[in-house]
Amino acid sequence: MAKIFCIANQKGGVGKTTTTVNLAAGLAKVGQRVLMVDLDPQGNATMGSGVDKRKLDLTVYDVLLESASIAEARVQSGKLVDAGCGYDILGANRELAGAEVEMVELERREKRLKNALAQVAQDYDFILIDCPPSLSMLTLNGLCCAHGVIVPMQCEYFALEGLADLVNTIKQVHANLNKELAIIGLLRVMFDPRITLQQQVSEQLKARFGDKVFNTVIPRNVRLAEAPSYGVPGVVFDPSSKGAQAFLAFAEEMVLRINSQ
Ligand code: ADP
Ligand code: MG
Repeated sequence: MAKIFCIANQKGGVGKTTTTVNLAAGLAKVGQRVLMVDLDPQGNATMGSGVDKRKLDLTVYDVLLESASIAEARVQSGKLVDAGCGYDILGANRELAGAEVEMVELERREKRLKNALAQVAQDYDFILIDCPPSLSMLTLNGLCCAHGVIVPMQCEYFALEGLADLVNTIKQVHANLNKELAIIGLLRVMFDPRITLQQQVSEQLKARFGDKVFNTVIPRNVRLAEAPSYGVPGVVFDPSSKGAQAFLAFAEEMVLRINSQ
C-alpha cells in the first residue's frame, strides 16, 4: 500500500515543486513505484515532469469533481521513463483554480482526493502531492489523504514564524479529519552554508524540531533551477550536480525513514 506525502508550505517559492519532482524521480530511480499528484493550478510540477499541462485531456480537476478516475487521468512522461526515473503523473493546469469554488457546494469536499487515491493506492509505494502555496481547500484535500507532510523550507529569518501557521493547520486536520497525519520532516532547501544567518536558523530548527529535521540538506544549485525549462527534474537533467546528488540522498533517507517506522 502506498505511503502518501504532501509537500506543503503556505509560502510560495520555497521549493515545494522542486522537492516534489526531484523526490519522485529519486524514488523512481531506486525502484520505488511513484505517483506524483500536482495540486497547484500553476501546474509547475506537471511541466517539470515533462508533461504539457495545456495538452492534458484529464487532470486532477476532473478527479476532484469525480468526472474521471485517477486510473483514467494519470499519464507518464517518455523523457523520465527513458532516463530510468519514470513515475506516474496526475497533472494540473489553470482549470484547477476553479475547483475551489465549484467544490464549495459539494459534500465530503475535503475527502475527494482521498477517495480517489484509495482506488490506486495498491499500484504505488509512494504518492507525492505537490500543494499550492496556501492553506486552501486544495491543500486540505492533500492533507486529508496524507500519512505525512514534508515541509521544504529556506533557513531565513521569517521561516520559523511561517511554520507556526502550517503546524497549527496540520494539528487541526489531525484532530478533525485525518488521525494519521503527522509532520514527517522539515527539509532544508536552497541552503548556502556560507551565510551565517542560514546556519543559525538551521541550528534553531534542529534545537526546536530535533529528528523531525531531515539529515539531508538541499544546497542552492543552479542546475536544479535550470532543469524545469527542459521539462525534467534536476535528478534527470544533471544527475552528477550537487543538487541532484542531494535529492538522491534525500530519496534514500525517505525510504529508510519509512521502512524503520
Ligand atoms: P514552490 O513550489 O514552493 O513555489 P519552487 O520549487 O517552484 O517553489 O522553487 C522556486 C524557485 O526556486 C524556482 O525557480 C526553482 O527552480 C528555484 N529553486 C528551488 N530549489 C532550488 C535550489 N535548491 N537551488 C536553486 N534554485 C532552486
Ligand atoms: Mg510550486
